[in-house]
Amino acid sequence: MKIGFIGLGNMGGPMAANLARAGHDVTGFDLTAPMPEGVRAADSAEAAARGAEVVITMLPNGDILRAVAAQVIPAMDAGAVLCDCSTVDVDSARAVAAEAEAKGLGALDAPVSGGVGGAAAGTLTFMVGGSEAAFAKVAPLFEIMGQKAVHCGAPGAGQAAKICNNMILGVTMIATCEAFALADKLGLDRQRMFDVVSTSSGYSWTMNAYCPAPGVGPQSPADNGYKPGFAAELMLKDLRLSQMAAEAADADTPMGARAAELYAQFVEAEDGKGRDFSAMLPRFEARSRD
Ligand code: NAD
Repeated sequence: MKIGFIGLGNMGGPMAANLARAGHDVTGFDLTAPMPEGVRAADSAEAAARGAEVVITMLPNGDILRAVAAQVIPAMDAGAVLCDCSTVDVDSARAVAAEAEAKGLGALDAPVSGGVGGAAAGTLTFMVGGSEAAFAKVAPLFEIMGQKAVHCGAPGAGQAAKICNNMILGVTMIATCEAFALADKLGLDRQRMFDVVSTSSGYSWTMNAYCPAPGVGPQSPADNGYKPGFAAELMLKDLRLSQMAAEAADADTPMGARAAELYAQFVEAEDGKGRDFSAMLPRFEARSRD
C-alpha cells in the first residue's frame, strides 16, 4: 500500500519503520525527526500525502493535528483515508474527521496504548473511531503496527476510549501509591501488602502488572529508578484531555479532576517531569498529612 506518514518521533518513527519493513511503500515527513529505515523522505506534509492510499499522522496535540490536516486533506486523492494515531482532544478528532469526510476522504481517530516499546515491537493496541469502510481499509496496517485494534464507533470514539482508559489508569495509580505510602507508615511490609492486594479486591493493573514499589511484583519502571515507561507528563496530558472532554460533555468526574491536579503539581511544581508516572509512590512516601 502507498502510505504517507507524518510525525516520526518516538512513536511514529518505529511505527513507520514497521510498515516499511512489512513491504509497504512509505513516504514520511517530520519537522525535525530523522527518517526511519526504509521510509522515503518528503519535503512537506502535502508531498508525503500526495497519491497515498492511507495517510497516518502521529503528532503531539490537537492544534498541530488540525494544522497538518489542513495541509494534507487538499492534497489527498478521493477515497484515501486519513488515520490519526496521536492522542488529541475529542473535538479536534471530530473536526478533522468532518473536514476529511466533506472532501470525500475516509477518516479515523486511532490513538494507541503500548508506548514506545509497543511501537517498536509492533504490539500496540489501537482504539478506533470512524466508518466501517475506513476501518476495514486500514485494518491490515493496524495488524502490522499492533496486536489489537478495536473499532469503538463513530469519529471521536477512539479518543474517547483512550482518555477514559487513561483516566482510570491515573486515578488507580494514585490510589495504589497512596495506599503503599499509608501501609509503610502503618509498618506493613511492601511485599506482604502486594501479596494481599494483588489477590484481593483492591487488585488492579497498576498493582499487579506495573507495581510502583521497587523490588515488588513483576519488573516495572520502579525497578529502574522510575525511568519511564510512561512519563508523568504524558499522564498529565491525558488527564487534562479527559477533563476537557468531561467539561464539554457536562460529565461529573471528581476523581479524574483530582488526579489531573495531583499530576499537574507533581510535574510542574515538584520533581515529576521526566519520571515514570508510578513515581507518585516516592512522592507520597516523602510527604506528611498536610
Ligand atoms: P514526539 O514528540 O516524539 O513526536 C512527535 C513528532 O511530531 C516530532 O518528531 C515532531 O517533530 C513532529 N511534528 C510536530 N509538528 C509537526 C508538523 N507540523 N509536521 C510534521 N511533524 C511534526 O511524541 P511521541 O512520543 O511520538 O507521541 C506522539 C503522540 O502519541 C502524542 O499524541 C502522544 O500523546 C501519543 N502517545 C505517546 C505515547 C508514548 O509513550 N510516547 C504513548 C501513547 C500515545
